[in-house]
Amino acid sequence: MFWQQEIETLDRPALDALQLKRLRETVGKLERVPFYRGKFLENGIKPEEIKSMADLRRLPFTTAEDLRANYPDGMLAVSREEVLRLHTSSGTTGKPKALFFSRRDVDTAAELIARAFCMTGVTRRDVFQNMMSYGLFTGGLVMHYGAEKMGCLVIPAGPGTSERQLLLMQDFGTTVIHVTPSYAFYFADFLEKKGVDPRKDLSLRKAFVGAEPYTEETRNKIEAALGIEVYNSYGLTEMNGPGVAFECEGKCGLHLWEDNFVLEIINPATGEPLSEGKTGELVLTSINREAMPLLRYRTRDLSSVISGPCACGRTHRRIHRITGRSDDMLIVRGVNIFPQQIERVLMSIPQIGRNYVIQLEGLDEMTVKVELSPAGFDGQVGHLEQLQNLVAEKLRAELWIRPHVDLVACGSLPVSEGKAKRVIDKRTL
Ligand code: AMP
Ligand code: ZN
Repeated sequence: MFWQQEIETLDRPALDALQLKRLRETVGKLERVPFYRGKFLENGIKPEEIKSMADLRRLPFTTAEDLRANYPDGMLAVSREEVLRLHTSSGTTGKPKALFFSRRDVDTAAELIARAFCMTGVTRRDVFQNMMSYGLFTGGLVMHYGAEKMGCLVIPAGPGTSERQLLLMQDFGTTVIHVTPSYAFYFADFLEKKGVDPRKDLSLRKAFVGAEPYTEETRNKIEAALGIEVYNSYGLTEMNGPGVAFECEGKCGLHLWEDNFVLEIINPATGEPLSEGKTGELVLTSINREAMPLLRYRTRDLSSVISGPCACGRTHRRIHRITGRSDDMLIVRGVNIFPQQIERVLMSIPQIGRNYVIQLEGLDEMTVKVELSPAGFDGQVGHLEQLQNLVAEKLRAELWIRPHVDLVACGSLPVSEGKAKRVIDKRTL
């Protein structure tokens, strides 16, 4: 099922030509933005000289710091009257990153979501419960309007309490949810405690899971716990929010809508492009935005391009699930560690539950605090110690250092309404 079949299956030469046309228009438009005009002058770039996609590399990068420095509206490429909506990114420190939408941008963002819904087999008969927070965060409204465009019944539940989510699911027959991986787990535990069997008692069939990195093991666990299909949904405020890249029914990488975004993978340290298939930082250029297009935006998200055609027939290239952020690497006792490595190990152990935090303290002490699964502890202290050792050993094999492991009761770690905070760094180094 396609939402815009022609564009979703455009052959490569036509897609390349469309990208170039839109890139040239975007660069021309950005001459009006003082930040980009300055960069073009500095680097001797004349927009009319952009003649092929290879010229992309001559264009400057844009960073999160550039957005903050130009806050609130220094990067706007249209007049204030043409702006319809504002969203901000969920960054927790300092000024947020603000992104503006024109009327056309609001509509395009919804189209991209509608494509994603169709691509995962959702139809107008589905009932979509959006469990993401509504407000400045794009996961609420942008997804909402996309679902409405597609034509399903939309329940704007927001993150709310699990009791209320369950009630809505029961009363209105929710079939599709949009949720963070951490909340999906929390909700699965909640159902288990309530004695609700989602396979028998609910109509759920699919979930769009995103907003934070998670592993394939986590996907498998959510699917098993809720009896549903989980599709990875990737996006960021700077590029509309959700709907930048999405899995199709094949669940073999995320199609990135290349008629809207130019995709590059670079070495984060040098800024140089990496060859196809190599993992590096995802850099995105929005070529179909009116209010605030961005050139070569450094997402900090790590991924790689999956080559070759997809069985679904879409020609837009796929990216591998995000394996972490170039700035969330931890250095513990001289060893480079990504939180995702820890998650992968934890989720592969059946007795281990679904919520965890990584605590760094003192002079480089790492403790992995993790919940037991509801059936993970039989009451025998000896077994608990064995399990603790097993987890620590498996982590050592993956990370090369042996962290402390603290096993805690199911449901005892805090769950945030938005993105999970997995790392607490209180080191006094
Ligand atoms: P925000 O702009 O606040 O919505 O945050 C966007 C960021 O959330 C991205 O740059 C990623 O770091 C993260 N993110 C969103 N979706 C996913 C996903 N499916 N997998 C991994 N990380 C994600
Ligand atoms: Zn596909």
